[in-house]
Amino acid sequence: MTMLRVDALDAHHGLLHAVRDVSLEVAEGEILALIGANGAGKTTLLRAIAGAHPPTRGRVLFDGADITMLPAHRRVRKGLALVPEGRRLFSGLTVEENLLVAGAAARPGPWNASTVLEVFPLLRERRHALAANLSGGEQQAAAIGRALMTNPQLLLLDEVSLGLAPVAVETLYRSLQLLIERSTTIVIVEQDLDRALKVSSRIVCLLEGRITLEGRSRDITRNEVTGAYFGLRGAKFAEARVS
Ligand code: ATP
Repeated sequence: MTMLRVDALDAHHGLLHAVRDVSLEVAEGEILALIGANGAGKTTLLRAIAGAHPPTRGRVLFDGADITMLPAHRRVRKGLALVPEGRRLFSGLTVEENLLVAGAAARPGPWNASTVLEVFPLLRERRHALAANLSGGEQQAAAIGRALMTNPQLLLLDEVSLGLAPVAVETLYRSLQLLIERSTTIVIVEQDLDRALKVSSRIVCLLEGRITLEGRSRDITRNEVTGAYFGLRGAKFAEARVS
């Protein structure tokens, strides 16, 4: 079943046309990796889906309902949660308090502080630590945990591994694997192409705001991805959209 549909979306920053005529679909249980070079429009697209950036044209449909005009907090209530680049925790609160604040007005569902700490064992040990004192990897895990506390149907993850040490990225992805096994639907922005291909069921590549490649991760070669990523000719659409 289609959970998210983005229809002919455009988004601007002033005169800059950051997202151009983007249409995509995400089915329930799918892991869609959004890839593309710096400035390709990934963050703007994710923010437009979450209601944090107003599109200039097009529509966003979630569970069949048109949510294009809905403010971000109402989208969270519908089950859409964004983990933004930069984590943005309450630094004066502990890990557990950060989770509980997010869970205060949560939708009913499987996620609570104890199930989140089950999936992120590194947070379990640090749950009484102030967010300000966490390592980058721990902060990222807490930011994802905080989004899970709202019991989302769809989790939007922006650049989870940005600025993290390789060992922290490994630990984080082990936790994400547990989320995937619990059939959470995820759209993930990931700069590391190999990791994006490995973790996702489908890939969408953006170049200068437009989709240049889209298809099932298992059917796409690394060459096709790098071609689409850098805008080299010959990169082809690997597969039709999900229906
Ligand atoms: P990155 O990996 O660097 O975050 P991205 O693919 O997520 O890149 P965006 O951050 O969406 O790309 O940026 C798309 C374009 O919009 C870029 O040219 C960027 O410089 C521009 N842009 C992004 N945010 C703003 C802003 N707040 N004001 C002006 N221009 C912006």
